[in-house]
Amino acid sequence: MPERMLQFVRVSQETPEKREVATRRADFREIYEEFDPPRARTQASRCSQCGVPFCQVHCPLSNNIPDWLKLTAEGRLEEAYEVSSATNNFPEICGRICPQDRLCEGNCVIEKGFESVTIGAVERYITDTAFEKGWVKAGTPKSENGLSVGIVGAGPGGLAAADMLRRQGYAVHVYDRYDRVGGLLIYGIPGFKLEKHIVLRRWKLLEDAGVVFHLNTEIGRDLSFEALRRRHDSILIATGVYKARDIGGPGAGLPGIVPALDFLTASNRQGLGENVPEFLSGALDAGGKNIVVIGGGDTAMDCVRTAVRQGAASVKCLYRRDRDNMPGSIREVKNAEEEGVEFVWLSAPEAFLGDATVTGVRAARMRLGLPDASGRQSVEQIEHSHFNIPADLVIKALGFDPEDLPVAFGEPALGVSRWGTLKVDHKSFMTSLPGVFAAGDIVRGASLVVWAIRDGRDAAAAMHAWMKQHATVAVAAE
Ligand SMILES: Cc1cc2nc3c(=O)[nH]c(=O)nc-3n(C[C@H](O)[C@H](O)[C@H](O)COP(=O)(O)OP(=O)(O)OC[C@H]3O[C@@H](n4cnc5c(N)ncnc54)[C@H](O)[C@@H]3O)c2cc1C
Repeated sequence: MPERMLQFVRVSQETPEKREVATRRADFREIYEEFDPPRARTQASRCSQCGVPFCQVHCPLSNNIPDWLKLTAEGRLEEAYEVSSATNNFPEICGRICPQDRLCEGNCVIEKGFESVTIGAVERYITDTAFEKGWVKAGTPKSENGLSVGIVGAGPGGLAAADMLRRQGYAVHVYDRYDRVGGLLIYGIPGFKLEKHIVLRRWKLLEDAGVVFHLNTEIGRDLSFEALRRRHDSILIATGVYKARDIGGPGAGLPGIVPALDFLTASNRQGLGENVPEFLSGALDAGGKNIVVIGGGDTAMDCVRTAVRQGAASVKCLYRRDRDNMPGSIREVKNAEEEGVEFVWLSAPEAFLGDATVTGVRAARMRLGLPDASGRQSVEQIEHSHFNIPADLVIKALGFDPEDLPVAFGEPALGVSRWGTLKVDHKSFMTSLPGVFAAGDIVRGASLVVWAIRDGRDAAAAMHAWMKQHATVAVAAE
């Protein structure tokens, strides 16, 4: 029976079941179970179908959420998938890892008083069902248009653009320095948030559509940027941001203090069946150790929860602000706490202890001060508040900055902002070089998957418009 909408007054919010803590601590599988069909329909029917849907307004992809919720409630799942995939190339990924509490669900009108519709879980259910039923097809174009694009970076930004441009008949070549497709989706984000087969099946679909991947190819090292430009009618740079912010102070260079992405990449590679030497030697393995993670963002949350799963003796997260002022998702903090992570709020490292290797962190207590120009409260150290935390492995998760791309690409005319991100024209998405576009974290700075997808789609549309005017072969796919 189709469900009637506006059921939030009668039906309470239910999220998909979480797996038992004891079992989920022991593996890297996703922690949320799938909705069963009746529950997905009932939960979708809670939507109030508002005239101005704030969920949609606050979704970077402007997903038509009320419509696909209604179609789900009515059991019209194939149509729900069509509506959902019309604005999002990878809805099953966003359904899993978007911080919905800050985006669509956080702005759901019934959130105040009734708790929001569980939009992310329904999005995931729709797309997983679509995959099961075979409704998700490769985006093979009807005809080739004779033009070719080169995309640097196979993360969500580059892949979304590749999908859009291939559907329009371009020969699409994606270059990545890694050996697998997905960028941070494959080597950054752990399997307990996003299982790897979800990313790998998108890779296969893109290949089935005719996208050509040139892996183990670093632009600027294995192939020059200049040569790349000669090969293609236009270029998209979607290289992300990878330069880890570092920490100073006495002992900061001791062995046993490692960057977050080294730790996560080693863990993800192990999970993909590789033998990673740094993991096998113990250098990047948290098993049996006291772990201290420094930072309060998504990366820090992924590190603490990875360390738990590797069998750490203890896991502490040191963050200089408090729970209400951390950049990471509160949902992930709750998950981490359930799994046994201890948060040491309002504390910042001062020095690292140890001789041959790190044995502890000396930290100081902090207090929140007055808000700065952005409204964020500053932090001040409390005098004489030092304390020591034992640590066998310290993981630095302090954020990322862009690499120096004009230098890496040997292209000084490539314009960058004062933060080192690529400058693009906000309408044309073009960089300072004609025919060279950019998208994702390399433009925004470290951001979200959903924004990378949005940028990839926008850049693809801008590249199409530009090539129609400037490329030498007529665009046949009009
Ligand atoms: C640990 C971690 C957890 C995160 N968790 C979440 C989350 O839960 N939800 C969320 O929405 N966001 C999350 N993010 C952020 C999200 O992953 C990024 O915003 C997103 O992946 C950016 O996409 P992108 O395509 O711009 O870049 P990336 O995903 O970084 O992909 C860039 C690609 O470019 C390649 N590349 C770089 N330089 C070159 C070169 N010279 N030649 C060839 N290839 C190159 C890289 O190998 C990489 O594959 C997380 C980030 C991290 C680090």
